[in-house]
Amino acid sequence: MSEFLEILTMLAVVIGWIGCIVAAGRVGERREALGAGLLFGLVFGPLGVIVAGFLDGRARCPGCGESVNQKRALCPHCHSSLKWVAGRPKILEAVKPEQPDE
Ligand SMILES: [Zn+2]
Repeated sequence: MSEFLEILTMLAVVIGWIGCIVAAGRVGERREALGAGLLFGLVFGPLGVIVAGFLDGRARCPGCGESVNQKRALCPHCHSSLKWVAGRPKILEAVKPEQPDE
């Protein structure tokens, strides 16, 4: 009977670990770091899910330096028009900072 419980416990741990891999992958995917998220989940389990939240595989906006999801036409931070060339954003039209009237 105790052998059955051991197998059941191991099965629960394995299923829980697989759940951590999936969860970390999904967390990483939101910031375009799916592969790294899956890896962190696989290696670190529940801790990997937390660490995956700090991953960021997104490109940086050349206008403001903030992270931007690929294929976005506008930077959500500085509203510059972006053109994507080879996976990197280029500015089409930068929003000029407001000049105080003189
Ligand atoms: Zn920007």
